[in-house]
Amino acid sequence: MPLDPTRWEPVIGLEIHVQLKTKTKMFCRCENVWGEAPNTRTCPVCLAHPGTLPVPNRQAIEWAIRLGLALDCEIAPRSLFHRKNYFYPDLPKGYQISQYDSPIATRGRFSVPGPDGDREMGIVRAHLEEDAAKTIHVGGEGGRIHGAGASLVDFNRGGTPLVEIVTEPDVRSAEEARRFLGLLRQTVVELGISDAEMEKGSLRCDANVSVRETGETGYRTKTELKNMNSFKFVADGIDAELARQVELYEDGGEVVQETLHFDPRSGRISPLRSKEQAHDYRYFPEPDLVPVEPSPELVGRLRDELPELPAARIRRLEEEIGFDLALGLVTSGRDELFARVPGDDRRATANVLMNQLAGAGVDPARVNADELAKLIAARDAIPRAAFDEALAASGDEGFTAERYLAEAAITDEGEIDAVIDRILAANEGQVQAYRSGKEGLLGFFVGQVMRETQGKANPKVVNERLRERLRA
Ligand SMILES: [Zn+2]
Repeated sequence: MPLDPTRWEPVIGLEIHVQLKTKTKMFCRCENVWGEAPNTRTCPVCLAHPGTLPVPNRQAIEWAIRLGLALDCEIAPRSLFHRKNYFYPDLPKGYQISQYDSPIATRGRFSVPGPDGDREMGIVRAHLEEDAAKTIHVGGEGGRIHGAGASLVDFNRGGTPLVEIVTEPDVRSAEEARRFLGLLRQTVVELGISDAEMEKGSLRCDANVSVRETGETGYRTKTELKNMNSFKFVADGIDAELARQVELYEDGGEVVQETLHFDPRSGRISPLRSKEQAHDYRYFPEPDLVPVEPSPELVGRLRDELPELPAARIRRLEEEIGFDLALGLVTSGRDELFARVPGDDRRATANVLMNQLAGAGVDPARVNADELAKLIAARDAIPRAAFDEALAASGDEGFTAERYLAEAAITDEGEIDAVIDRILAANEGQVQAYRSGKEGLLGFFVGQVMRETQGKANPKVVNERLRERLRA
């Protein structure tokens, strides 16, 4: 439930982890893939056998810089890897190689278009690190550690290159957090550096949440919401936590700084007890790695190669088709097809791409735009079922609209009149009832005509002709 904006203002910061889809892991040559049999993509380096040494992945460093540039960050001419020490089964070395006080990218901003204009979100930093292994808790409830019978560890994920992005507390609603994530996701997908799928864990989001009274300038105590694995759960979790905090304050209580878990099934928030509660990570510089010192030429080249970002394209499209459709097309990667489809009714085209085409599961990159335009132009003259069938086939090799246009609806009035006459003659009782005031029967007659024509009659013409014939 949204807060009363005249009383309370949400203050939200996001921490986002993006797994990079490099061929190999961050510090070893193990294949970096998802979904393989557990513990089949490991080696002495990522399993931390004694005497092994890490070698940084050049591609991962370049991609982290590329992402930093897309976030309008300053790229550090010299950044360091640190060891973040903690003891947990998902970390065979006993420390994670991460970046600490000299990250690769700092002080950026990310523009988030909204229905009332753009809002700029500050980016504190983006840094490179290696992912931990995946722990799977079995035999308990909902995969949580509490009550689990056993915990299994899959080291395939251990050592996957990861960029962590930390925003300023600039996000002002759960909906805005969701929009931010959608845009960031599309950005990293278009940069070609991650498949960024929350359900696979290649995009993960934690949220730091607090509220303050409207007009208040300082920040109050924040809590951290962890492990939300879909855009919807992020938004629902933030809303639930905002409501919990406001209720606490309004009852005269205080918010305690803690890490929380949101259960999407029950909608409940509960404290999370885990390794994250141990705060002393004893960071120190990783002695086995040299500093990262990208040349100005490399950074310049990566900057030149940046594509136009999704936010800029939303702003361009917004004037043409309105904010919601523009946001939907761009964040679903359909705006490139939209630009290729000719035709004057731009909103209708956008609607078809966002609704029917998306629903049919067609890959927009495979669609012949000119053929799709013919279909869209004829959409009112084709029976709905034929139109849907055509859309579903529009990504097929050699697709033409012609075959489906041949099934165009019957619009010939003479043909429709003949059917109507037959039906009126066969239903005299209903005709009399209609004429004596039961106009709701029109639907009955329309249904009869559509059945007789096997759904091919143009409904608009049928309605017009029926009213005309029933008036007599
Ligand atoms: Zn390895």
